[in-house]
Amino acid sequence: MAAANARYYAAGDPFREFATAPGISQAFGEILGLWAATVWEGLGRPDPVRLVELGPGRGTLMADALRAVGRVAPDFRSALRLHLVETSPALRAAQAALLPEAGWHERFEEVPPGPILLLANEFLDALPIRQFVRRLDGWMERFVGAGGRFVERPAVAPAGAAADTLGAVNEVCEPALRLASLLGARLRASPGAALFIDYGPAASAAGESLQALRGGRPADPLADPGTADLSAHVDFQSFAAAAQAAGAVVSGPVPQGIFLTRLGLFQRLDRLARGRGPAEAAALLAAGRRLAEPDGMGRLFKALGLASPDGPELPGFSL
Ligand code: SAH
Repeated sequence: MAAANARYYAAGDPFREFATAPGISQAFGEILGLWAATVWEGLGRPDPVRLVELGPGRGTLMADALRAVGRVAPDFRSALRLHLVETSPALRAAQAALLPEAGWHERFEEVPPGPILLLANEFLDALPIRQFVRRLDGWMERFVGAGGRFVERPAVAPAGAAADTLGAVNEVCEPALRLASLLGARLRASPGAALFIDYGPAASAAGESLQALRGGRPADPLADPGTADLSAHVDFQSFAAAAQAAGAVVSGPVPQGIFLTRLGLFQRLDRLARGRGPAEAAALLAAGRRLAEPDGMGRLFKALGLASPDGPELPGFSL
């Protein structure tokens, strides 16, 4: 599954197929940029500071963020050094067109030491998972076998299994847990904060969430490897626990709609809509509502914050 997804992202421009928040409204990236600027103030304005994005896609979020920061937080704008973590050559090229000042890394570990602010939208859901199933005679792990079918092989119990009732599927995302530990240790060692926005339940739960989208429509995850976007729900609880165990202070998760609304999404949309015609203004507001409303992306998507132990309170996580 890992290889298939890496191939999918490497193949070109997957975002023609499904819309993520930055492509829905420019206000999303702008608000995240101002979130970073506010946290930077709270950290005591470290200069330089590394602004890191994991899996930036086409670079839209960061371009919107930097435009907003340049207007309202010029000191942060000149203190920040941009680091993008991206494995897909095609998406790196797209990012370079919008963000020529950036430096690129294959993995988070390669980002040089020092104070950091990190943003990641829909990154964790793209990381490969392992699926374990509880059967009568013990735990089995699912693999993709010959002929592109799932096969099960005996396995040891997955760490932190959410349920061990018969037939229960437990998904484990090891790269996400490794990242949480690395980031937790880094935030303990030097000042900083991280913001993850992704979809999944707030508490760990058993169940299968692996899904494939091909041409924007649900598809068989095992058919034609590399041609569909594979993703799985993010287990925020396990991710947060791993980051905390390594030394970070955790905020959230809170639903995306609440998070963005607290940070002024609708004020920003109102401002963007001023002076536009009624149809354009309505479209701007509709896009914002899609990000915030419970039956859009407002509830399933969550924001999770991580900060250094003596860091500031992160905006958007409490009233
Ligand atoms: N943040 C963007 C894109 C989300 S899609 C948005 O919100 O639109 C996931 C992104 O993560 C893509 O850029 C993909 O190429 C990248 N990616 C996936 N697995 C990765 C990995 N292991 N390391 C680095 N980047 C990865």
